[in-house]
Amino acid sequence: MVNLKINGIPVSVPEGSTILQAAKLANVRIPTLCYLKDVQCVGSCRMCLVEATGARGLVAACVYPVSEGMEVRTNTPKVRKSRKTTVELLLSTHKKKCLSCVRSMNCELQKLALEYNAEEDRFGTDHDEKPIDDLSASVVRDNSKCVMCTRCVAACNRQTIGAIGPKHRGYAKVIGSPYDVSLAFTPCVNCGQCVVACPVGALYEKSAVADVWGAIVDPSKEVVFFTAPSVKATLGEAFGLPVGTNVEGKMVAAIKQLGDVKCFNMDVTADLTIMEEAHELLERIKTGGTLPMFTSCCPGWVKFAEHYYPELLPNISSCKSPQEMFSAVLKTWYCEKNGIKPENLYVVSVIPCTAKKFEITRDALKGYTDAALTTRELAKMIKEAGIDFANIPDAEFDTPFGEASGAGAIFGTTGGVMEAALRTAAYKLGGDGAPVEFTEVRGTKGVKEAEYTLGGKTVRVAVASGLDNARRLCERVKKGEKDYTFIEIMACPGGCINGGGQPYVHDEIRNSVDLKTVRAQALYDCDRENKYRCSHETPAVDMLYKEYFGAPLSHKSHELLHTSYEKREKY
Ligand code: SF4
Ligand code: SF4
Ligand code: SF4
Repeated sequence: MVNLKINGIPVSVPEGSTILQAAKLANVRIPTLCYLKDVQCVGSCRMCLVEATGARGLVAACVYPVSEGMEVRTNTPKVRKSRKTTVELLLSTHKKKCLSCVRSMNCELQKLALEYNAEEDRFGTDHDEKPIDDLSASVVRDNSKCVMCTRCVAACNRQTIGAIGPKHRGYAKVIGSPYDVSLAFTPCVNCGQCVVACPVGALYEKSAVADVWGAIVDPSKEVVFFTAPSVKATLGEAFGLPVGTNVEGKMVAAIKQLGDVKCFNMDVTADLTIMEEAHELLERIKTGGTLPMFTSCCPGWVKFAEHYYPELLPNISSCKSPQEMFSAVLKTWYCEKNGIKPENLYVVSVIPCTAKKFEITRDALKGYTDAALTTRELAKMIKEAGIDFANIPDAEFDTPFGEASGAGAIFGTTGGVMEAALRTAAYKLGGDGAPVEFTEVRGTKGVKEAEYTLGGKTVRVAVASGLDNARRLCERVKKGEKDYTFIEIMACPGGCINGGGQPYVHDEIRNSVDLKTVRAQALYDCDRENKYRCSHETPAVDMLYKEYFGAPLSHKSHELLHTSYEKREKY
């Protein structure tokens, strides 16, 4: 251990720790901009400069190592002056359209400018208006607001995609894609990890908010919303509630106050996905089909496989994602049942995910989901409508798609789809008394493996979240290193609870709270308290099979609930 003092506060930290880590233990806040825990630590933005004995000049706390007896000062006049100048230099080339910016009131640069009394125009305003890239179905890039922190680049590289990177040198440096093409024409998988990493309004989702408002006031449209499993565990953050607060009741109530709309629970079609997927897996095992089978509910992972592992496409389940299953059920069974023309039903999914915005544009899926709103966009609509979210009384989802199982709820976290599928597979093979908890596949470890015996059969499973881990697992499968039966992959590290459409979380929280674990806990609590633990117990799923699909993998379910994938050469 190394002993040092931060602003006179004694602290002991393991050798090799940085000043920033030591300051955290001493409860001293040092501002950061380019640093992001688990994503990037390069010391380039110079916001975290501090004075430290033994160092020449100011040093970057995020990368500078502690030493025995060191005395660190984080708030001297010299330090404050340096930080103020850094912010003023950033502002000199920044498009300062703060009033209408998507990050206004939630922008790291705005916050630092306030804290250090930065003058907006101390060095004049000297920026060329750079073109906005809005051709992608999911992500918009506005380089005029970029502060060159490169957190997005690190996030994309961590996903092993590298769709964006720094280009040119010095003053001309910008973040862009190879050959200056739009993000839409790169192998970007639309995961949005760059968006949640960006500290300012230079990256944001392609908004569907105006379209949804338009549909709500259109008398020819009936509008139905459905919300993805993880949204209930994160939406509250956009209204200042603690990370990990389950706001399902408030979320439903707020959606119903947006207008004359219905609100359904996407956990139901998470359950429907499991019914189809578990049966597909059992069928493949029984008939000697292609194994291991991979899950297909994450469109970021599916596009990744289409680009980088086309030889594994036969291994991917043909099941549509819960979003697309829900929209297919609504535009067919629901419309028939309620005498609505499918073109008059406006289907809005609320998702944690920017990749699902891309998913609804896929040729095979077009025309089912009319708009996909991220958790952030739903929060924006609730704020625009002037709804007092914190004090709104709880409401319940509309029937018949309200009640779902705990297995559907845990879809929102890494390992959840696997555990849900194992529950139903165990029941199908072992009957009543089959296990419902498969805790080995829980937790935020990048790759998890387990082996189970279900009804006398050995099933080897693996779970990966984050595309770096997915790539590692795909390589193992390609080389035949491991004999897996079933593999779950989620593109976002930690799964959808950490998706690219989730609320922006300020650096201070993101760098100190384990978001993935705390948010996931809210879903596991939901599961534990649910009267149904398994997808096959959900009444609406049972009703759909009885009334419409007949049985899992029936002709009708193949027609409406399954899809196919294509090898992608470029984008
Ligand atoms: S959305 Fe994902 S893949 Fe696309 S640029 Fe951002 S981080 Fe990279
Ligand atoms: S786009 Fe955002 S995350 Fe990327 S370098 Fe610019 S400011 Fe940083
Ligand atoms: S992990 Fe979830 S949020 Fe992330 S891309 Fe996949 S489906 Fe979307």
